Amino acid sequence: MATRYDLTRADLAEVLADQPGYRVDQVWDGLHRRCVAPSAMTELPLPLRDHLEHELPAALTLARESVSENGSTVKWLWQLDDAALVETVLMHYPDRATVCISSQAGCAMACSFCATGQAGFERNLSTGEIVEQVALAVDRARPRRLSNVVLMGMGEPLANYDRVWAAIERLHDDMGLSARHLTVSTVGMVPGIRRLTTEALPVNLAVSLHAANDTLRNELVPINRRYPLADLTDACRNYLAAKGRRLSFEWALIAGVNDRPSDAVELAVIARPLGAHVNLIPLNPTPGYATPGTPPSGVRDFRDQLRASGVNATIRQNRGTDIDAACGQLRAAAASSPVELRR
Ligand code: SAH
Repeated sequence: MATRYDLTRADLAEVLADQPGYRVDQVWDGLHRRCVAPSAMTELPLPLRDHLEHELPAALTLARESVSENGSTVKWLWQLDDAALVETVLMHYPDRATVCISSQAGCAMACSFCATGQAGFERNLSTGEIVEQVALAVDRARPRRLSNVVLMGMGEPLANYDRVWAAIERLHDDMGLSARHLTVSTVGMVPGIRRLTTEALPVNLAVSLHAANDTLRNELVPINRRYPLADLTDACRNYLAAKGRRLSFEWALIAGVNDRPSDAVELAVIARPLGAHVNLIPLNPTPGYATPGTPPSGVRDFRDQLRASGVNATIRQNRGTDIDAACGQLRAAAASSPVELRR
């Protein structure tokens, strides 16, 4: 059965074929504008609400919710209808919120330092499974406005292109999120970046670079063997030329591996001509990778060196480490353990 956010408007019209025509807009807006379940659509007669709960089932069942010490970060572990598991991270700011969503259960990219990559690939998420993560975040973020969506959770979005793009269009067209507040983060799937370049919506592009020479990048990010840096930077340049959006590079600083002055020099050579913004983050610990992240003073030194060479660089505030919700830590593990609520 198609889940509630997998349905198109035409599908919904079929489900509501025996109802007055205005019900289609009512239900569609309830799902996408207000982001509520049919049971909460009090403008509908009760029997219809019940009927819709049955006809339009939710895709995501909560398996566990973890809340960080200070309450600002919430991680959800969802169980899908085939028992696959994915995670979503909601980050609260004083007056708004950002959600980090998953595009696949697991990931096939096998980046050595990433917990999702260490666990391997399970399957692509459907459009509805992607959109529903956002709808639930909108609801939970209230009274804050959910302003930003980043595809930086589990999976490689550009390896699930069609479903991800349909989800982005839904977020933009039906949920009213602006393209400048939607960010696709990629390990560097060059064909996907080239396809993005042809789309009408100018979403933000983030590239997980982590190394600026092919020898090191081949090791850290294996897909680099297929799409080496020259191809990747060429695709980025074309994207920028077509969209005029800011490009950002993610760089997880690993002690002694990619945090040396020579690494900053190589990165500056690539980032400066693209006008790329560099997001620095000390590597978060994961079970399968022993080398630690760069200590805070080293992170600042690296940033300062980039800035001195004319590169716009910031240190990303690290959220949710106490609940394993930080970048690269999403693993969707331990589903069999009892549901745990941390506050
Ligand atoms: N596959 C996409 C989306 C995942 S985003 C991509 O690679 O961009 C997750 C981000 O966290 C990526 O930038 C990834 O490189 C980074 N990351 C992975 N493991 C990490 C770790 N242990 N510490 C910090 N960042 C990590």
